[in-house]
Amino acid sequence: SRASVCCRYRNDTAPEGGKAYPADQAAQVLATLSTDAAWTSMDEPQQLLVAAGPKPIDKYLLLRELRATEPLMYHKFMVHHSHEVLPFIYTPTVGQACSDYHVLGIRTRGLYLTLEDKGNILNKLKAWPQKDIKVIVVTDGERILGLGDLGANGMGISEGKIELYTAAAGVDPNTCLPVCLDVGTNNVALRDHPAYRGMRRPRPADAEYDAFVDEFMQALKAWQPNLLLQFEDFGNHNAFRLLERYQPTHCCFNDDIQGTASITLAAVLAALRVKQEKLSQQRILFLGAGEAAAGIATLIAECINLREGVEYKEALKRCYLIDSKGLVCKSRTDLQHHKVPFAHDVPAAASLLDAVKTLRPTAIIGVSAQPAAFTKEIVELMAHINERPIIFPLSNPTKLAECTFQQAFEWTKGQVLFASGSPFDDITDSDGVVHHPPQANNAYIFPGVGYAAILTKAKTIPNVCFLIAAEKLAGMAYSEELARGSLFPPFNEIRDISASIMADVMTYLVDNGYGTVPAGWDRAEATSAGKANWRRKARRAQWCPLEALGLPTPP
Ligand code: NAP
Ligand code: MN
Repeated sequence: SRASVCCRYRNDTAPEGGKAYPADQAAQVLATLSTDAAWTSMDEPQQLLVAAGPKPIDKYLLLRELRATEPLMYHKFMVHHSHEVLPFIYTPTVGQACSDYHVLGIRTRGLYLTLEDKGNILNKLKAWPQKDIKVIVVTDGERILGLGDLGANGMGISEGKIELYTAAAGVDPNTCLPVCLDVGTNNVALRDHPAYRGMRRPRPADAEYDAFVDEFMQALKAWQPNLLLQFEDFGNHNAFRLLERYQPTHCCFNDDIQGTASITLAAVLAALRVKQEKLSQQRILFLGAGEAAAGIATLIAECINLREGVEYKEALKRCYLIDSKGLVCKSRTDLQHHKVPFAHDVPAAASLLDAVKTLRPTAIIGVSAQPAAFTKEIVELMAHINERPIIFPLSNPTKLAECTFQQAFEWTKGQVLFASGSPFDDITDSDGVVHHPPQANNAYIFPGVGYAAILTKAKTIPNVCFLIAAEKLAGMAYSEELARGSLFPPFNEIRDISASIMADVMTYLVDNGYGTVPAGWDRAEATSAGKANWRRKARRAQWCPLEALGLPTPP
């Protein structure tokens, strides 16, 4: 039976006009496939993805249509073939979807709250048809991936990202809500486009913005006191402030800062398993000094401090940041708050190349959205300085990556320890050995941490949870595959991976009084000896589309 469990929510409509929208084409493709015979024979999503058409955006639209019309089939594919399906739901395709959201004829699934809702946000939440919301992903569209201000089009990122809670950690999709705060946009071309559906006004000044966000945050508490909130793709001026303000009082985190920090730390720790070195022995140079860089560098310093006993102030000195004006250093007088801890007493450097020459880093991490910034000269120099250079071009989407896997591999003669933000193709070397480029996908981390917070009804999520998740993930990479450069366990094991992360994070939250033991779970088991039981319980707490379809579930 293909009974629907997810309702279809639409709080706006496609723009008027005689244009044939790709979303309508998607509906037609589905109609041709939608006989029972076609469905029952379809155990793999390939047939569907091929039928959608050659372009990734066609596949994205078809998957949206499938979600709206055949939610269980959609979830079956998404959960059991996540590796094939997720690139079309989430990065890299979601980048294009957000850029073109206003002209794709998309029927929005999430909730828009606009400045015009001021004074009325709680009522609007209460009027929403889903009643039992456990997780919200919210954006204000100001910094979508590395694509900049996309205003109300940013809804696409909330809609895409929240799917990972179901795919990766097994949060019931009926309890998930994507939200976009539409406060206008400074993207004039978009604002003036006839099909744009957001508020046609510039973003407000801080006071008006803060009052609006604060009403939203207080309304959430009144509406669903145990809800988890994920901040996503806010401009960094607001992202740091909002996190600082609401982390103590709300069960919330910012994935661009903290989730990115955790997945990148996991990649570094896994690389150090290969190099057999300590984190405190590294010099890590970031190209970029925004949310990602500050988040990663802070978590690295916390890890060095807590796990290797180095004083926190000293640990900060293992990380160096480069922003749009050059190396962040003590002599700079123009630094934003989040850069100050990394302004070390070193000579200024104008370029990444200069900084690599003087600092001789063991790792370079690209989080600047500057494509091709890791040049041949820089990568070769890294390979000259280090036997196994750590090179992570993390900028998304693919076209913004600082270098490709192919380049990093060739320029270091295969010695690179690599991770990227967007997926790259495998490389087969001259001996016929296949090398899989690991993707530093935040989806390894945030769904597990988030579901742990939900299950324990955590009052707040301390940053240490992201350290715990990173250590867990780094330890799970298989030794044989580590040697071939796979820094993470395979993503198709994501639900087991998430369950392991959940068990560790839940234990920490409960032990430290941030959360409570879920009904039916035994606190005595939340010890190292009983941890396997919590991991099994976490696995069983995951929503399964096969079960919902009445089909047998894999062991
Ligand atoms: P952000 O807060 O806007 O920061 C961007 C940083 O890049 C800023 O510090 C900016 O300098 C710097 N920058 C800009 N142009 C530069 C240049 N020419 N040279 C050196 N630095 C330059 O953005 P973010 O959240 O950190 O994200 C940055 C990138 O990382 C995005 O592409 C995003 O997709 C990617 N990312 C990847 C992952 C992942 O792989 N898992 C996760 C999160 C983000 P100023 O401070 O001087 O403006
Ligand atoms: Mn993001």
